[in-house]
Amino acid sequence: MKMYVGGKWLEKTDKLEVLNPFDNTVIDTVPRASMDDVDRALSTAAEGAKAIRRTSGYDRFLILKKAAELLEQYSSDLARIITLEEGKIISEARFEVSRAVQTLTLSAEEAKRLSGEMVPLDGAPGAGNRMGFTLRIPCGVVVAISPFNFPLNLVAHKVGPALAAGNSVVIKPATDTPLSALRLTEILLEAGVPQPAIQCITGYGSDVGDALCSDPRVRKITFTGSRDVGERICRKAGLKKVTMELGSNSPLIIMPDADLEKVSQAIVATGYSNAGQVCISTQRVLALRPIYEELISALSPQVESINTGNPLDEKTKMGPMIREKEAIRVQSWVEEAKQAGAKVLVGGERKGSFFAPTLIADVKPQMRISCEELFGPAVAVTPTGTIEEAISLANDTHYGLSAGIFTQNLDWALRFAREVDAGNLHINWGPQWRADLMPYGGLKESGFGKEGPKYAVQEMSELKMVVLHLS
Ligand code: NAP
Repeated sequence: MKMYVGGKWLEKTDKLEVLNPFDNTVIDTVPRASMDDVDRALSTAAEGAKAIRRTSGYDRFLILKKAAELLEQYSSDLARIITLEEGKIISEARFEVSRAVQTLTLSAEEAKRLSGEMVPLDGAPGAGNRMGFTLRIPCGVVVAISPFNFPLNLVAHKVGPALAAGNSVVIKPATDTPLSALRLTEILLEAGVPQPAIQCITGYGSDVGDALCSDPRVRKITFTGSRDVGERICRKAGLKKVTMELGSNSPLIIMPDADLEKVSQAIVATGYSNAGQVCISTQRVLALRPIYEELISALSPQVESINTGNPLDEKTKMGPMIREKEAIRVQSWVEEAKQAGAKVLVGGERKGSFFAPTLIADVKPQMRISCEELFGPAVAVTPTGTIEEAISLANDTHYGLSAGIFTQNLDWALRFAREVDAGNLHINWGPQWRADLMPYGGLKESGFGKEGPKYAVQEMSELKMVVLHLS
């Protein structure tokens, strides 16, 4: 596909191959952007910011609503693109498209709700004859950098609110999975987004990222990706607004009163979907000792039953990882844990980019599969003694994106919600659950700022204060 820069679909002789993670075949190519392309994208986006700012909220509502309808219309085509470039199974890809339809629909609604508030200035000493109100205005140019693992919906979560708030946006999709974002750009243009208000630039983040993030024409950066790239972007950004949606090693606490059948279902659903490559995947299961053995017996056959294969085949339950090097990394972390005394109960094998669904018991918190973000299809189970110890282990990480607990005890559940430092907390389900309308984002080194269109629109707009000095 071509990239969309400067109001045109551009081809380049310097191209990057987009590979199918299942069999490594080339499914398409995209241009490798140069510094000149970055400059063209940003100068066009600066013009686009002026153009879209002049549109009404109702105009933007109509455009985004139309884009959501078109997305729905093209959903089977888009689901296939997602599976081909990302490797997730086709049912998960269809679900991602339906979520992106939701995200754009919610963004459309928010375009009508940008508002300020009256400020009771007469409450300030000596300000009795003043009145004031706030005006919410767009930021201007938004740079949206997205990761590979949800190549459509995480782009929609940035572009939808950015346009709803009246900004222009420059999308930089992940190099592994640029096709869904380019197709979404086509759809947004077809729906009527003013041409200079959207750009989709392809190429390595390491080539173009610094230039995009440090440019003074950009007012807002919204980034989803790894912690280290996020930190680099923050340093390069300087005096700009930034939203950071970063990684995690999400914990799930299992108390002795948990329904173990439901727990096993939840761990399978939240630990292995998209081959574990979800920022809020269940990675660390912290199970209290009285139910530890029983949990492992209930869970093992469920993990064994996850079959792998061609993600386009409706019968496949888990596809490949994005690249073989990632599968090799996961294998080495699992081997390292095994050498240090953990027990691999299910899986542990690798074939190319496929890493088998893996369950590991007796994991120590200091092992890499527990204390760093694994981002692969393995779940680590650690025995623990009390709710205090479980909460302390859950918090013993620099991440804080999502966490879960299984219990019927209200006191334990609320204690978990109050004391575990994570942006999303799930009672009686695993940490990997998200509705697109909810505020979503991490604490600690999992980032800052919230997504979810209602909340992202706030992050992508600014407040002006207007004061009337009455005589
Ligand atoms: P990544 O390697 O950090 O890449 C994310 C994006 O950043 C890509 O578009 C990448 O481009 C770009 N990039 C790389 N270097 C850059 C630079 N110097 N300046 C600007 N941009 C740069 O992450 P990933 O492997 O795609 O995704 C996995 C990570 O994302 C995990 O850590 C996961 O937890 C996190 N994630 C978080 C959330 C959340 O909501 N919190 C959701 C999904 C994923 P290239 O592809 O060209 O390198």
